[in-house]
Amino acid sequence: MGDEEILDVIVVGAGPAGLACAGEAAGAGLQVIVLERGDVAGGKNLSGGRLYLEPVKDLCADLLKDAPFERPVVSETVCLCDERSSLSFRLDQPTGNSVTVLRARLDKHLANRATAKGAMVLPQQRADELVMPAGRVTGVKVGPEVLKARVVVAADGVLSFLAQQAGLRPARETHTYAVGFKEIIQLDAAVIEDRFNLPKGQGAARLYMGAVTGGLPGGGFIYTNRDSLSVGLVVQLGAVRKWRSESHLFDLLEEFKQRSDIAPLLAGGQTAEYGAHLIPEGGFGALPSPGIPGLLLAGDAAGFVLNTGPVLRGMDLALTSGVLAGRSIVAGLKARQPETCLQIYRQALKQSFIMKQMRAHKKAPIVLSSDRLYRRLPEQMVNWATDFFRVGPKGSHPRMRQAFKGLRRSLGFRGLQDLWRLMRM
Ligand SMILES: Cc1cc2nc3c(=O)[nH]c(=O)nc-3n(C[C@H](O)[C@H](O)[C@H](O)COP(=O)(O)OP(=O)(O)OC[C@H]3O[C@@H](n4cnc5c(N)ncnc54)[C@H](O)[C@@H]3O)c2cc1C
Repeated sequence: MGDEEILDVIVVGAGPAGLACAGEAAGAGLQVIVLERGDVAGGKNLSGGRLYLEPVKDLCADLLKDAPFERPVVSETVCLCDERSSLSFRLDQPTGNSVTVLRARLDKHLANRATAKGAMVLPQQRADELVMPAGRVTGVKVGPEVLKARVVVAADGVLSFLAQQAGLRPARETHTYAVGFKEIIQLDAAVIEDRFNLPKGQGAARLYMGAVTGGLPGGGFIYTNRDSLSVGLVVQLGAVRKWRSESHLFDLLEEFKQRSDIAPLLAGGQTAEYGAHLIPEGGFGALPSPGIPGLLLAGDAAGFVLNTGPVLRGMDLALTSGVLAGRSIVAGLKARQPETCLQIYRQALKQSFIMKQMRAHKKAPIVLSSDRLYRRLPEQMVNWATDFFRVGPKGSHPRMRQAFKGLRRSLGFRGLQDLWRLMRM
């Protein structure tokens, strides 16, 4: 690349957001490069592993064609846990609306699609800083080299250093982040289907709330892949700082795996991978502006993650914001008005499900940070269910009416208030 060559688009980050943007812009004939600091696309990326398809199936149809999905999720379970027991709600359906994915495979596929459309994906290239004369981004520095572009897209993930340099990311407090850690545990496909009671090739998602996080706001998950399980915990970072415990945070995952209601699901499996990663969970109230002249933010870099408890979504928002960023750039550059790209992108985001859903769930970060939801509520529900199913020594067991009165008593005013808040969230 010559010194004076100006590319149409530089995308920083080969995750779903960056690759979706690159595919869209390159597919429309723009000259696009993607800089990725890792050895390969997806090499440094981590996700629980569940992609909601409905929001992206039209917008990203081409990108996701023949994507290496692991299993369609046809079985959903939410488990409320105390120290030893759990109360589960399970939904089984013939078809689901999400699939499990492994990021190393998915991101490789997305990189291949973007490349096939003409983008150049360059691994082992870290963007060190923005080139920003007079407040407009005109390129990035990679080591000593300056790369120039009409538009730069920061799709560099949760700790977007570029967004920070552009002054878009305020010094966020720790309560706007969660930390997730997970293992991939190798297990035979037939064993998975047997243990999770699944038809051949179909998948399950199990979510855990309560004692599994040591009372910290957050939860646990198990997702079934083709021949492995994704097993992990996500906890709010703000609460971790105040956590007083003998255990190390990573011990929680070990304890989670050893629970008597979980260990049999994992028995005989071999840990193949282990990782930890931050998640931007500040929600609507913590969203930065999506860009400045010459720079657009997409995916985690823009804070696009929705956590509403049983549902954690970041990948579909990353893919969508990436496509919208790509389209906005195409519209602005083809009209020879690069300065309009940001306005077009802002408008596209506003009309998309991303901003609508983030606004609709804006109370989620506050409601989900209540300690009681993770300490008292699951314990109360488990206690109540224990009584509900118990037959006493004198042969008595509660009548339905007593049982439901018992539930109300057991939850008390605070518990009912928590449930009410959850329902209104
Ligand atoms: C434990 C955990 C569980 C999760 N579970 C789910 C789930 O089940 N479903 C879901 O939808 N979402 C989930 N998420 C969230 C989801 O993973 C993210 O929202 C999604 O990966 C965001 O994609 P992205 O492209 O914006 O960023 P990333 O996937 O983080 O990609 C950013 C890329 O930028 C690269 N990069 C960073 N800085 C630079 C630089 N300076 N130069 C060059 N390259 C750079 C990185 O190496 C990386 O490849 C989970 C997250 C975690 C941590």
